[in-house]
Amino acid sequence: MEKQCLDCGQKIIGRADKKFCDDQCRSNYNNRLRAEDQTTIKKINHILLKNRKILNELNPEGKVKVTKSKMEKAGFNFAYFTHIYETAKGAQYKFCYEFGYLPIENDYFLVVKSNDI
Ligand SMILES: [Zn+2]
Repeated sequence: MEKQCLDCGQKIIGRADKKFCDDQCRSNYNNRLRAEDQTTIKKINHILLKNRKILNELNPEGKVKVTKSKMEKAGFNFAYFTHIYETAKGAQYKFCYEFGYLPIENDYFLVVKSNDI
């Protein structure tokens, strides 16, 4: 079976398990993968840090009730958070770093700050 280099796409000559023409192609390929990983990580970090900034700005006193639409308007992304904290009663706070939010009644969220995580 004819095999192609994973980097440049050229036909590979040699051992059956060879994936690249040479070391240059191998390192090109690995560098590209690493760069793509870094881009993904940066994108996610950016979203999480933005969420944290929004929660921080909405919550200057350490605890506040906020509407969902106010959070959305500020650009909060509900799909991203760092961890979940579940209380003994089963309420689940989602956290972005030290700021947590819990859905309460009528489209409101309770936003809290907790440094012991
Ligand atoms: Zn190649």
